[in-house]
Amino acid sequence: MAQKAMRDIEITRATTTKLNDFSIEQFTFGKHYTDHMLEADYIDGEWTNVSIKPYQPISISPACSAIHYGQSIFEGIKAYRDKQSGKIRIFRPYDNYKRFNISAHRMQMPEVPEDLFIEGMRQLIALDEAWVPSVHDYSLYIRPFMFATDGYIGVKPSTTYKFLIILSPTGPYYSHPMRIFVEEKYVRAVEGGVGFAKNAGNYGAAMFPTAEAKKRGYDQVLWTDAKEHKYVQECGTMNVFFVFGNTAVTPGLESGTILEGVTRMSTIQLMKDMGVKVEERDLSIGEIKERHKAGELTEAFGTGTAATVLMIRELADNDDTLLFPEDKWKVGPAVKAKLDAIREGSAADTYNWMVEV
Ligand SMILES: *Cc1c(COP(=O)(O)O)cnc(C)c1O
Repeated sequence: MAQKAMRDIEITRATTTKLNDFSIEQFTFGKHYTDHMLEADYIDGEWTNVSIKPYQPISISPACSAIHYGQSIFEGIKAYRDKQSGKIRIFRPYDNYKRFNISAHRMQMPEVPEDLFIEGMRQLIALDEAWVPSVHDYSLYIRPFMFATDGYIGVKPSTTYKFLIILSPTGPYYSHPMRIFVEEKYVRAVEGGVGFAKNAGNYGAAMFPTAEAKKRGYDQVLWTDAKEHKYVQECGTMNVFFVFGNTAVTPGLESGTILEGVTRMSTIQLMKDMGVKVEERDLSIGEIKERHKAGELTEAFGTGTAATVLMIRELADNDDTLLFPEDKWKVGPAVKAKLDAIREGSAADTYNWMVEV
């Protein structure tokens, strides 16, 4: 059964739902996908074959250029069921949309038009509406992605691409506060590189150093700059904030080595609203150590779509270990509570961050 919707998205409905075999009490994030997916092809300079269809494998050439040369980008977004109205709302999808095309541009990939990205996402979620959990702390994770599909192993930009959106229910991020290893050998991003893009290769490249840190008992690495290993960049796949009294410091974006998180932007706004001073600037490990010693540095946390805000309890740099006792945490937990409340509809959405499906 195929029917036409806006933007000529051809919709083919699944004949059964996997929801009956899915238990919100017991599931692993990232292993369960909803009944449908969106798929579109970029051919001859145009997005075409836009369809929403049953979630299914895709067929690609063994010479698929994304696999060989890495033209592959993605986004991560969440949709929530509003507590009051029961309506489904997406958190800041337009900001992810903008970032997606920034990534596409850097990776020499075509832009995805707004109606395909946003409208496609809304229609897909509307169709899989029953999968959006109504339980507190649960949401629907949205994964838009694009990759090169030419079956050609010459090194050059692909002429064809696929854009897809898949959806996966997700629950609370039970992760404990993090023990962090300050990484001063390997790097995630370098000026002039691709650190500001959400391209697949960045994550592959981070796996070895992260595994090394985990072997030593840490949860994540704190990336430092490639030139001097002196200035902090990000914490794993989260942006990072250090709180000195009533001032929060996070690395600025000028160097192009930092992924501009939507949660980072939101955190900065909410902290300003709370009367916390925010500085986006270079922050050295030396300053962190000195001011921690002086008792001025009281909190550190990472921000991202998955965990919202994740506190840091320990930072290890060579032979120094900095501890962040929980009784001093104030700003991080307040931001998390506020952000979660806005997303679930129990606090006013002053900035119109929530977009109805
Ligand atoms: C996705 C991501 C973030 C967080 O971005 P959000 O938009 O807040 O989810 C931060 N750093 C890296 C490297 C990321 O990939």
